[in-house]
Amino acid sequence: MMRRDPVKKDFAVIGLGRFGGSICRTLSEQGKEVLAIDKSEERVNEFSMIASHAIVGDATDETVLKGIGIRNFDHVVVAIGEDIQSSILATLILKELGVRHLTVKAQNDYHEKVLRKIGADEVVHPERDMGIRIANKMTSNNVLDYLELSDQYSIIEFIANENMGKHTLLELDIRRKYGITIVAIKRDKEIIVSPQAKENIHKGDVLIAIGDVDNLEKFKRKVVE
Ligand code: ATP
Repeated sequence: MMRRDPVKKDFAVIGLGRFGGSICRTLSEQGKEVLAIDKSEERVNEFSMIASHAIVGDATDETVLKGIGIRNFDHVVVAIGEDIQSSILATLILKELGVRHLTVKAQNDYHEKVLRKIGADEVVHPERDMGIRIANKMTSNNVLDYLELSDQYSIIEFIANENMGKHTLLELDIRRKYGITIVAIKRDKEIIVSPQAKENIHKGDVLIAIGDVDNLEKFKRKVVE
């Protein structure tokens, strides 16, 4: 007899606070199938018209997770915030049940360490990451955005100032002097991806650069500001 593969489902979001709720809303707006889970009936009611399915359940209860066939979901998000113990327990059970891609929200650095140890595929730290982005924007008028890729590498989006204008990338020699690479230039509606060394920079161009965090910091202080 032929065995049928279990029906593939898209996403499950556990914990419908501001963070989990926002993920759930965005995925639903993108037309994705989302199962929303929370132990609070009130929260679940709030999402019953937004998510494809919304159920009341305790994610630290293995029977509940098994019952909803959680391992058939492509991607599960654990967005249990304050209750760190429940977040860890739910993560442990979900990995044991064989969830392939698990993203978990961490509350602090210790929480993050434990989550990584027990197999969370991706750990997010929204408050900390947003703080870094905003602080970087605040310390320079020309920095539009700052994105941490890892502990070592970041991306910075900034406006070319007067000093950079009318020079080519070759003349500015950014890669050799600062060890960072300009990956794109936005000029009005045009986007130049992987610009060549002969490309002239205009004052007001928006440049996107990638590099080592320390190098980017040096570059930001000496060139961007
Ligand atoms: P926010 O995301 O709003 O910034 P937060 O990350 O601190 O805040 P909480 O306010 O703690 O999140 O909300 C997390 C949600 O997770 C709540 O709705 C809570 O009911 C739910 N939750 C907590 N523990 C469990 C659990 N064991 N099973 C299912 N849901 C849970």
